[in-house]
Amino acid sequence: MRNTFLILFLTLSLNAFGQSTFQYDIVLEGGRVIDPETELDAIKNVGIINGRIAMISSDPLSGKETVNVSGMVVAPGFIDLHVHGMSNVEQEYQLHDGVTTALELEWGIEHTGAWYASRQGNALIHYGASVCWPFERMKALASYQDGVDELLDLVQEKKYARQSFFHIASPSFTEDLTSEESDRTLTNIKSALGEGAIGIGVPIGYLPDTKPAEMYSVFELAGQIDALIYTHNRQPSILSLQEVIADATLTGAPLHIVHINSMSLGQIDFALNMVSAAAQKGFDITTELYPYTAASTGLMTAMFNEGWQERLGIDYGDLQLVATGERLTKETFARHRRTNQYVIMHMMQPEWIARGIAAPGVIIGSDGMPYSKLAHPRTAGTFSRVLGKYVREDQVLDLNTAIEKMTLLPAKRLEGIAPMMRFKGRIQVGADADITVFDPNSIIDKATFEGGLEFSEGIAYVLVNGTFVLKNGKTVSNVFPGQGVYGRFKK
Ligand SMILES: [Zn+2]
Repeated sequence: MRNTFLILFLTLSLNAFGQSTFQYDIVLEGGRVIDPETELDAIKNVGIINGRIAMISSDPLSGKETVNVSGMVVAPGFIDLHVHGMSNVEQEYQLHDGVTTALELEWGIEHTGAWYASRQGNALIHYGASVCWPFERMKALASYQDGVDELLDLVQEKKYARQSFFHIASPSFTEDLTSEESDRTLTNIKSALGEGAIGIGVPIGYLPDTKPAEMYSVFELAGQIDALIYTHNRQPSILSLQEVIADATLTGAPLHIVHINSMSLGQIDFALNMVSAAAQKGFDITTELYPYTAASTGLMTAMFNEGWQERLGIDYGDLQLVATGERLTKETFARHRRTNQYVIMHMMQPEWIARGIAAPGVIIGSDGMPYSKLAHPRTAGTFSRVLGKYVREDQVLDLNTAIEKMTLLPAKRLEGIAPMMRFKGRIQVGADADITVFDPNSIIDKATFEGGLEFSEGIAYVLVNGTFVLKNGKTVSNVFPGQGVYGRFKK
């Protein structure tokens, strides 16, 4: 249907724009337009009408609103496959970092339909989520119905926060399922896909005692219906990477492995080689990383079960409490674990990250956290950091490749499961006018582990569906053009 629309749109465009008096809604004038798919990289004027890119031309264009963007890069809006902060508080940080689509695909969302409804008409940028397998699994257990209902109330009152789920659901994480419960989980997953979820989030790392056969059954379902799976692997190890690659190749499930940096640590080269070998053999397997040397999660998660120091290669002093910034000790660790405080885990080396960012085909995804002043800086600075530090300062990769890793690659990754992504990640006639305009000489992240979240610098304009949400580096108030991104199973 969208294809028909595109052809119609193009036909209308040709007729209308032949007239020299034609006025576009918005013209971005004189910027360096970069489109990774067509390899366009030239000074052009971009005309936007009805939320879509209608003209890319060297000739002057007339607009109801014309913005001179000379000296700046006009890129497709950045697409983040991996965020956990999904309210407008986090979305404002994301848009200052150039992001126009921010999706929760690792963990997924509970009460899919109700959550999408709760965001409709009040989001700054595009939103969407996968099925939350741990939640659908919990729902399949009769004894957790109170928790399921409680969470629905929170979603409907728009008070939903990540922490809620960990508290309500965590006891179910250690329980084995009967075969009926396992079947019910799969039925629940299918119905959440029917409510529009974009594939299936399988964060097995948060439920590491799950039987291999149970996880395999989720992959089997994904293979049967061709639904993309996102995994946070069972452990940060090569064996765990081999587990998901084996499950995906044997079942035919398309697979996206999240944050390969924190999943492979010092073995990142080997891990990336395995992923690219799988892709070269024709398997639909991809990965992503964030440009920081620390990870972040809740202290009561399975990540910190007995043996964590050995698994992660770190100790108490490498853990930084998000609430206060303090480093932990054996005593404070035990105390804060009881209340599930978030921590930042300093556990990676800079050269591992640089090699991951440079590796061909690897997508940039932030893993941005729920808002807290001292939340992990990736929450606010991921994309500007890649463009400022890794492209301009350290020259780890070139500008066009970096843009491709944050626009076209994530869009293409999702096209099979969310066809509307074919219109994103591109500066092309007919594409959605999700556009980020930035100064390549000054763009940089400002959020730090010590000082906490700050808006990134150097992003001048952001358009979402042809509406400015950022202008002259400032948030435009009272505009909510963000729309839901849905999976293709939506009924
Ligand atoms: Zn994760």
